[in-house]
Amino acid sequence: MGMTPLYFDNNATAPLRPEASAAIHKAMGAPANPSSVHSFGRTARLTVEAARESVALLAGSRAADVVFTSGGTESNNLALAGFAHIVTSAIEHDSVRACAVSASVINVTSDGVIDLEHARAVLAGLPDEQRPSTILSVMAANNETGVIQPVAELVALARENNIAVHSDMVQLLAKDHFSFAALDLDYASLSAHKIGGPAGVGAVLVKPGNALQSLLRGGGQEQGRRSGTENFIGIAGFGAAASAAFGDVAHYEAMSKWRDQFEDMMLAHVPDAHVFGQQVPRLGNTSCLAIAGKSAETMVMALDIAGAAISAGSACSSGKVKTSHVLAAMGAGDLAGQAVRISGGWQTKKTDFERLADVFLGLYKR
Ligand code: PLP
Repeated sequence: MGMTPLYFDNNATAPLRPEASAAIHKAMGAPANPSSVHSFGRTARLTVEAARESVALLAGSRAADVVFTSGGTESNNLALAGFAHIVTSAIEHDSVRACAVSASVINVTSDGVIDLEHARAVLAGLPDEQRPSTILSVMAANNETGVIQPVAELVALARENNIAVHSDMVQLLAKDHFSFAALDLDYASLSAHKIGGPAGVGAVLVKPGNALQSLLRGGGQEQGRRSGTENFIGIAGFGAAASAAFGDVAHYEAMSKWRDQFEDMMLAHVPDAHVFGQQVPRLGNTSCLAIAGKSAETMVMALDIAGAAISAGSACSSGKVKTSHVLAAMGAGDLAGQAVRISGGWQTKKTDFERLADVFLGLYKR
């Protein structure tokens, strides 16, 4: 009794970092419209530009490439808005899938990796006249399985086929090495609340010279690329979180060992346990685990009562869990409804994984 509950749902949202919290409190102090010419406005502009620098540094882009948005969903929508046809994978986030009105879908392997041979065939099959208005959109790491995707290879394929390329970097940012410029992407999407910033703020990175078709009409903020008075408080929090996240990759490398130990315990002691994507590169923080015959919803509730917050394979909206399109695309069959997602964050410690293993074994050990 009395133990703080374990929080293992960081792929849904991570707790606010103290640095972000401090920056937000500070930002709440004075009127702050960064477009105003008076001293208050100029001070606000400095904060926004400092945040832009911090985000750019973390994402390996130029500050001028960073366009602040309301989060990952808007960033995905905005990056894809100017394209009539989208080539995407079967495991993308709904905010990409919903944009893909006219789409070609690339398969994934049973490990959850985008199938490069299929990607090659799909891209080669595009009619020439469709290419200028087509974009390839592929996520860098999947939110349900943590599986890291071959983005560099996919960028090369997009270039060979003369089409633009976007990557949803929301889950990978700060958890693995990534450079927007080195990858030569046209667009990338980021979200603050997955790295310990506040929800409701994110960014789309835009390669110099590339157009962005505005979703919002209005005052032309963000150099005409995203209208609306900047979310000053959110951006201040995002900037502080990005600076604080700078050394996180080493933390997630260490975490991958704690995660692997946890999974080994599950596979050794829980009958019919299965780990998705175990054989391929994954984010160090994520484990997608099914126990045959146990429904994911029941497991999430049982763990919640036992003091551990995890989620069913797919994050649910309005409290309803729907079958995961990601696990379905991996051919998981019935196991898809039995998969739970465990995801650590910047604050997670080795002992948290050990405690989580105890909770699981207390409930499901043979
Ligand atoms: N893309 C991925 C891969 C995500 O996991 C999420 C969040 O669940 C999003 C996009 C959406 O980001 P946001 O919650 O900031 O709109």
